[in-house]
Amino acid sequence: PGADAPELASAQAETTRTVSAAQIAREVTRRRTFGIISHPDAGKTTLTEKLLLFSGAIQLAGTVKGRKSGRHATSDWMEIEKQRGISVASSVMQFEYRDHVVNLLDTPGHQDFSEDTYRVLTAVDSALMAIDAAKGVEEQTIKLLNVCRMRNTPILTFMNKMDRETRDPLELLDEVESVLQIECAPVTWPIGMGKTFRGVYHLLRDEILLFAPGSERADQTFEVVKGIDNPRLAEMFPLEIEQLKMEVELVHGASHAFDLDAYLAGKQTPVFFGSAINNFGVREILDALLEWAPAPRPRDATVRTVEPQETPFSGFVFKIQANMDPAHRDRIAFLRVCSGRFERGMKIKHLRINRDIRVSNVVTFMASSREQVEEAFAGDIIGLPNHGNMQIGDSFSEGEMLQFTGIPYFAPDFFRSVRIRNPLKIKQLHKGLQQLGEEGAVQVFKPVHGGDLILGAVGVLQFEVVASRLLNEYGVDAVFEGTSISSARWITCDDKKALAEFEKSIAGNNIAFDAAGNMAYLATSGVNLRHTQERWPQLTFHATREHS
Ligand code: GDP
Repeated sequence: PGADAPELASAQAETTRTVSAAQIAREVTRRRTFGIISHPDAGKTTLTEKLLLFSGAIQLAGTVKGRKSGRHATSDWMEIEKQRGISVASSVMQFEYRDHVVNLLDTPGHQDFSEDTYRVLTAVDSALMAIDAAKGVEEQTIKLLNVCRMRNTPILTFMNKMDRETRDPLELLDEVESVLQIECAPVTWPIGMGKTFRGVYHLLRDEILLFAPGSERADQTFEVVKGIDNPRLAEMFPLEIEQLKMEVELVHGASHAFDLDAYLAGKQTPVFFGSAINNFGVREILDALLEWAPAPRPRDATVRTVEPQETPFSGFVFKIQANMDPAHRDRIAFLRVCSGRFERGMKIKHLRINRDIRVSNVVTFMASSREQVEEAFAGDIIGLPNHGNMQIGDSFSEGEMLQFTGIPYFAPDFFRSVRIRNPLKIKQLHKGLQQLGEEGAVQVFKPVHGGDLILGAVGVLQFEVVASRLLNEYGVDAVFEGTSISSARWITCDDKKALAEFEKSIAGNNIAFDAAGNMAYLATSGVNLRHTQERWPQLTFHATREHS
């Protein structure tokens, strides 16, 4: 019987492979991975909460909010996170809805705005843009949308807070089109606003969803009236219905019709109106996400494009979150699965250092439970314990050398110079900053002409995190001071002679090298940057750079 055994085993292995290929395809198709882009206070937290409510992942609204007020597990928190109430668990929320698996990646705003916020958007397949309809397009939304644009990420738009006095809806669409340079295709249209908000008209379904102040319940349904010419409407809203008909005619004539391909190409955004706090219009968003938003997409790697249905596992790290428990210096590396099936306990290859690691202690993110999930597929996020050898942009596979591309660093908007109180600690300072820089916690620039190291960040909280980690992990008491630098650009140039001249010129005084050894120009003002760019047309000034 021994002679047959190997054949049998290989036949069995063959079956497992085939089964899992079909299973992988099925799992990929039912996944949606997205993030919310919005300006602080537009309603991201409220919207997140209502989305989780629909899925049954949380029973009561208020749970997500809870992270701001301190009801949470304590073990996996860093000191600053504790104070500010950001948890590892809320970084990714996975839930099931209508037989789909939805991964909602948090894009920290407010004080917590950092490069992580940008980079999270490199790990999603689509985005939901929430806009406060009273305020319109705001600064942080513009920044985040520009990041989405780098990969033509499809975007759904939710005009929130229609239960308040808002701006004119047509004007809002105009603003989105002109400021964000993306076509708007209204899918629902508001009837009134504020005290006279009656509901929304679904332009594609010819249905009116009647507004009622929402409850905290997920099973709440809003009444639907079929057809804009339905006589019931004229009875209910004699004042508003004529206005609606006029507006709808205008909208049909003047705005873009929904076009799935244009949406998928990132050229057009379907627009929904509603009120997150009242749970109104949120289900429509979730349905659109399932019906229109893309399942996990292929990802580019240096050698080839990786399809999500491929059987071998692969993925990349897009975020590293520190855990400041002093007894536990471990950090969590957030990895987006790009292909195959991840299984707890499996061996995967850390490609940059060319080493196999066995991952048994992985964190996954079901919003409804804290259980360890055993497997993950393309689009899912897993948290790997990181003992200091993982960096943002690192790729993992079952062996194939696949370095995923498109995970950028962003030119910082805030700068500090670093000094230390105890000069004997200079080595530790450099070591600490080198590691924190590699990890992506902050950007570190070393001016060519000496002087203090310069730290750059896109959000000021990053400096606090770095100061605190330098102290706790490297025993360095660093002092951060303001600088005269206002922006940074990475420099590339094929013309060696021009580059040498640039380095010798006055502008050369503002050259620095980042932690990965790339040359950057640190400008003292917008005018200074513009002048330098004009003066040195042979050089290219980049606002982002890829992880190397
Ligand atoms: P975030 O900063 O984007 O996470 O915004 P939040 O979800 O915390 O909301 C900011 C404020 O707007 C909170 O006071 C919410 O209660 C409020 N808010 C959110 N959605 C609505 C809405 O639909 N209508 C009204 N009137 N207020 C809302």
